[in-house]
Amino acid sequence: MDCLFCRIAEKKTPARIIYEDEACVAFEDIAPQAPVHVLVVPRRHIATTLELKEEDGPLIGHLFRVANRIAGDKQVAGRGFRLVMNTNAEAGQSVYHIHLHLLGGRRMHWPPG
Ligand code: AMP
Repeated sequence: MDCLFCRIAEKKTPARIIYEDEACVAFEDIAPQAPVHVLVVPRRHIATTLELKEEDGPLIGHLFRVANRIAGDKQVAGRGFRLVMNTNAEAGQSVYHIHLHLLGGRRMHWPPG
């Protein structure tokens, strides 16, 4: 199996990694959709949110806490930011390794596009 985000987590493909720990890596999105656009990615390969199991709860909570910390570091926590995970094609998922988008630094719209 060849997975882009597994390769980035293993440092086999370059990315602008801004945070990493034993469970996840966070790096700048290559095509940012907002002034702040970071992807928080578990090291473990999970293709879509549909594969999540009950025992993955702490991992998912960890991704959100890491995203909160990065939002603070990037000065968007107080202003507001958006955390998004796309699942499957109609939602726009293009990389089949789950990732939390952290978007901020501009006014977000609702409903989303
Ligand atoms: P999604 O469409 O929700 O699956 O999100 C995939 C995201 O990965 C998109 O926002 C892409 O711009 C981003 N992306 C794709 N390739 C890379 C890469 N090599 N480095 C960083 N971000 C990437």
